[in-house]
Amino acid sequence: NAKAAGGNGYRFFTPEMNEAAVARLSLEHSLRDGLEQNQFFLHYQPKIDLETMQPVGVEALIRWQHPEIGLVSPARFIPVAEETGMIVQIGEWVMRTALAQIREWEAKGFAPLPVAVNVSVRQITNPKFGERVVQLCAESGVSPELLELEITETAMMSNLAYIADTLNEVRGAGIRIAIDDFGTGYSSLSYLRRLPITTLKVDRSFVAEATTNADTAAIAATIIAMGRQLGLKVVAEGIETAEQLEFLRHHRCDELQGYYFSRPLPAAELEARFLRRAALAVAS
Ligand code: C2E
Ligand code: MG
Ligand code: MG
Ligand code: MG
Repeated sequence: NAKAAGGNGYRFFTPEMNEAAVARLSLEHSLRDGLEQNQFFLHYQPKIDLETMQPVGVEALIRWQHPEIGLVSPARFIPVAEETGMIVQIGEWVMRTALAQIREWEAKGFAPLPVAVNVSVRQITNPKFGERVVQLCAESGVSPELLELEITETAMMSNLAYIADTLNEVRGAGIRIAIDDFGTGYSSLSYLRRLPITTLKVDRSFVAEATTNADTAAIAATIIAMGRQLGLKVVAEGIETAEQLEFLRHHRCDELQGYYFSRPLPAAELEARFLRRAALAVAS
């Protein structure tokens, strides 16, 4: 099967090849099959507004149901997809699916909720990325204000000058841009002024320790205060306990996400538990 064999048309294995390399090759091969055979799907995790305690957005998280292995964690396959370049096609699938889901919720009469999509550095460094995202929004008929891109701090830093134009293009179209896992990359803070960021997502490692470690608490509080002073929306991820919620309330973090509120859910379950009906339009 030449197609399944990948871009150059053949694959071979030698005894010298270490197991990891073989595993990676077969994973790449399976990722390709997975796309063709619709083995991927999205779960959605709500973001809760601190003041109203109501959902104000969701994050789309990819899931892979492999026919033999079962459910594979994105922590396992996204790095391989990034290394092999498969992330470009997978990322496009994620974007299309999330946009189609926004339209479906709209058609079902739910009030619109912004959807955040995780994006890898390998996607944004593609010079066509900005144009493509804007085009996908237009084709799907989704207002760009309903889309947010989450990019990890490490990914942003690795190619600062190169991705600035792309991010400006995307932001110029109205799409929001979040820094994911903020505080975990060893970065200079000056990039916060140089990139069109709208949202900071405080890494869950800070949330996890904020109530048990005084230094972590100080860092988390400082990140939240800094985000606010820069006019950014600050979202905390990984909230699991009422104590963590209280800490974030005290420091006035804008939005909250974590198992304490909800795990990432299949679309139907999110609808049932979190989505609200849109106000009825006045009949004409
Ligand atoms: P992330 O974007 O930082 O997403 C948050 C991760 O933390 C998710 O893991 C989520 O399920 C998990 N999480 C949420 N709340 C809690 C909590 O209270 N406690 C704990 N322990 N974990 C929580 P998930 O879904 O396994 O995704 C892992 C990572 O894989 C994501 O981290 C993101 O970097 C990447 N990823 C997921 N979907 C995509 C995608 O569509 N495209 C790309 N490029 N990367 C993705
Ligand atoms: Mg994320
Ligand atoms: Mg994160
Ligand atoms: Mg993460």
